Amino acid sequence: MLKPSDLLQDVQLRLSTMACPSCRTRGLDLRIRCDLDVNECLYLAICEDCSAEYWIDRDTLPDGMGDICRVCGSAHCSLTLSCDAMTHRCAYGVSFTPCPH
Ligand SMILES: [Zn+2]
Ligand SMILES: [Zn+2]
Repeated sequence: MLKPSDLLQDVQLRLSTMACPSCRTRGLDLRIRCDLDVNECLYLAICEDCSAEYWIDRDTLPDGMGDICRVCGSAHCSLTLSCDAMTHRCAYGVSFTPCPH
């Protein structure tokens, strides 16, 4: 499972291949803002094309990846990050794939 120390790298990697939900340009930038009056620095995904900003909701990072498959022993799921053009938020989620065995 993803450690918090790996999160920054993970977010960066995912954003670089993600299409902007507003203008569909591929590749979002990560900005970290620590100048706000909050306990933690904010992670923002920025589109250089249309200047859209998306707030990355780190609280959505799942604690675990669900059950281990009894047939093959793997979890059959992967972490996803998706940004919403309406709410301007990016949220982590888990997507499940059926067992190939
Ligand atoms: Zn854009
Ligand atoms: Zn399986």
